[in-house]
Amino acid sequence: MDKKKIGKCVLAGAGPGDLGLVTLRAKECIEQAEVLVYDYLCNPEMLEWAAESAERIYVGKKAGDHTRSQDEINRLLVVKTRECKRVVRLKGGDPFVFGRGGEEAQALAAAGVPYEIVPGVTSAIAGPAYAGIPITHRGSTSHVTFFTGHEDPSKRESSIDFAALQRLGGTQVMLMGVERLDAIAREMLANGVRADLPVALIRWATTPRQETLMGTLDSIAETVAETGFSAPAIAVFGEVVRLRNELNWFENRPLSGKRIVVTRTRRQAGALTGQLRSFGADVLELPAIRIEQPTDLRAFAELVQDAHAYDWIIFTSPNGVNAFFDLFYKLYHDAREIGGAKIAAIGPATAQRVKDFHLHVDLQPEEFVAEALVREFKKQGGVENLRILLARAEKARDVLPKELSAMGGIVDEALAYRTLPEIGDPNGARQRLVEEGADLITFTSSSTVENFMAMDLPWPAGMKVASIGPVTSKTAREVGLNVDVEARRHDVPGLVEAIGKFYRVRS
Ligand code: SAH
Repeated sequence: MDKKKIGKCVLAGAGPGDLGLVTLRAKECIEQAEVLVYDYLCNPEMLEWAAESAERIYVGKKAGDHTRSQDEINRLLVVKTRECKRVVRLKGGDPFVFGRGGEEAQALAAAGVPYEIVPGVTSAIAGPAYAGIPITHRGSTSHVTFFTGHEDPSKRESSIDFAALQRLGGTQVMLMGVERLDAIAREMLANGVRADLPVALIRWATTPRQETLMGTLDSIAETVAETGFSAPAIAVFGEVVRLRNELNWFENRPLSGKRIVVTRTRRQAGALTGQLRSFGADVLELPAIRIEQPTDLRAFAELVQDAHAYDWIIFTSPNGVNAFFDLFYKLYHDAREIGGAKIAAIGPATAQRVKDFHLHVDLQPEEFVAEALVREFKKQGGVENLRILLARAEKARDVLPKELSAMGGIVDEALAYRTLPEIGDPNGARQRLVEEGADLITFTSSSTVENFMAMDLPWPAGMKVASIGPVTSKTAREVGLNVDVEARRHDVPGLVEAIGKFYRVRS
């Protein structure tokens, strides 16, 4: 029986920025959401956890950019929930820490619609932690105060009692109001707080853009003005700030402060992005290409269907393996239908994809280029009269078909997929590249080079080039680029290693 569906609104903490700091419950809610309402402090990457069909509503809320008023947001949540939707309202950090989550919950309660609160990791705690500042410390600091700097301290009705804060001491964490820091510091000094009290400001905490500014109460506002340090930031006042000198773990990683562009397709970017980020890089995922079905899907399907008739099947990329077996298992329900065909794969990632389908890789050249495979076949006595199926992208290089045919092989090319330029800017990376520039761009294939250039973006000043190997480097040089880094091992770990070396040598 069809039970009547009831909507529910989840007020979920989106954490401070680092995706790893989102709770399991929040992630589960996002995955099931039909409507997502979010603002600018939420890392937009978590929106990708949601179903493609989920409605995504941006409600702004950056200071000065109030896309929607709080009343409008409250009404929106109630209306959407009443439509029997699973609504997730994502709020940066924790929903009940200076996030007006209380007001949204009140609106939902007053409207009588079901709701749930999922706490989040607040920037007030995560920010200091990522800056290397323990907010309490045995023997010196046994209490913490959180306060908002949003209020004008000179206002008579200010609810912040700076005299009380002064008496309290301990660690004090201020959210919002960096732009009012001057007035706030003066108010603290006027109430007797020592001029040399250590202060740290942390902006974009827990993200690769995190920056920390240290100072003392009497000079910090000046430093902020001089450096142009801006929101979103939290301020930490207290002795514990000094511990950062010993504990600054996050901003000291090998690639901290480096902005690196990854041009692979969204489906493939994960490993490269993940490894670069784990070394502290600020990664802009800017796929230049996306993978689509081949122009002639029927011709490809016929070759896949006949795969058992070949002596060898050659794969040159993980995409080719995916395309081949996705189709193969639509046609057949038994892996043995592949018959006696042996499998060759170029590159460890390609070989790994074959193994993921529980098939053995019979031949894998040590070098990850077509020429090496040809040499390997020669070593093994050639391919005379052998039937070879080559599964690969449209418009690939013709080294393999040419050389293998010249050796007497009977080669059929199975055009398994095509790469198209990626249009659009779903995660804002293109805009960030244009506005903020980057230190390095990575190319993992010739087509990423060509398609990136085809996007015709202005080349950021000083942006260096890292290439996965000689073939990609050659293409890069042909379009006029200077290749600064080339991987010795032509795969993702090899590229990451080369980039690490490049920066460590120089810094
Ligand atoms: N509910 C949020 C706070 C919302 S108020 C939380 O629990 O974190 C917005 C303020 O939070 C910003 O002005 C800034 O002071 C702080 N903030 C949120 N995320 C931040 C981040 N990643 N880095 C620094 N400050 C942050």
